[in-house]
Amino acid sequence: MNQVDYLRISLIDRCNFSCQYCMPEGAELDYILQQDLLTNAELLTLIKEVFIPVGFTRFRLTGGEPLLRRGVVELVEQIASFPQTKDLSMTTNGFLLAPLAQNLYDAGLKRINISLDSLDADIFNQVIGNKGLTSRLKWESVWNGIQTAHDVGFDPLKLNVVVIPGVNDHEILDLAALTIDKQWHVRFIEFMPIGNGDLFQGKGWISSAELRQQIRTKWGLTESQVCGAGPADIFRIPGAKGTLGFISQMSDCFCDRCNRIRLAADGWLRPCLLNETGQIDLKTALRSGVSTTKLQGQIQELLTVKSEINFKQRESGTTTGNYSRTMSQIGG
Ligand code: SAM
Ligand code: SF4
Repeated sequence: MNQVDYLRISLIDRCNFSCQYCMPEGAELDYILQQDLLTNAELLTLIKEVFIPVGFTRFRLTGGEPLLRRGVVELVEQIASFPQTKDLSMTTNGFLLAPLAQNLYDAGLKRINISLDSLDADIFNQVIGNKGLTSRLKWESVWNGIQTAHDVGFDPLKLNVVVIPGVNDHEILDLAALTIDKQWHVRFIEFMPIGNGDLFQGKGWISSAELRQQIRTKWGLTESQVCGAGPADIFRIPGAKGTLGFISQMSDCFCDRCNRIRLAADGWLRPCLLNETGQIDLKTALRSGVSTTKLQGQIQELLTVKSEINFKQRESGTTTGNYSRTMSQIGG
């Protein structure tokens, strides 16, 4: 059985973008009320007194958009300061990153994933939806965030691309080319039907194997690490400084090597992205005085059954079954 030592922590379910695949416009999302969010103190108590004693040493801050969370730099500082923390990372859309990058780095965040689905501001805007500012400004802010993160020294710096048929799939080579001169790691993610199964219906998703073939034809491709500890299969364009990762949860289920669980911003602990079986309401437990020792026991129990829970529902996603959460609500 895989050792599960990696916790993905959603800091907030809200976002300043509304990406088609994550928060489709028009979707009625029930946002978590302020009083139902785990406070910073509760979150730190859970990490320090519950997750670390159970064996968790690697943490990723995500959302929604984690940089919208009040006190995010202080949270990073605290989590990084626990001696047991081996790895702390963040996934962000990068829009608010430029002015925060240095502070986050100094607080102890050394690696970061930034979502970038297109190099074209208009296509980018089409993907992220129409909240506020013009497309060029939004794209430029994200690009500026990426450049600043690079200059500050984040390493690895990963760029996440969700490949959307008919929208950004013609940019695969341009996006892959970003890894040639800079030590950036571009990761192509197969679109998943999470709370949005009707989206792109008929067009389906594009498999990682197809993407690799395109890249191989242009430059050649060498395998760096296939079936590693994480979900990505890693390749490299010969001579490139950075790598290419392929996250193929649709074409090549990697549930059997899953090493993570997810804590939602309202304190629900989920054993699997697409299966809520066994989830635990840690916020209510904490607020009603359940001891952290008892919570450790509950999590240990959940971990023993996790391999049976791991998602068997990736075809239907969360759109069928008894709930229809989007990625932003679960914590991507
Ligand atoms: N807001 C941050 C961001 O966009 O990077 C962090 C949260 S977001 C939910 C985390 C990652 O999930 C992003 O890289 C996003 O592209 C990916 N994602 C969201 N919905 C997805 C879907 N339906 N299929 C595949 N990836 C998805
Ligand atoms: Fe926001 Fe990230 Fe979801 Fe896009 S993928 S809507 S940026 S949470």
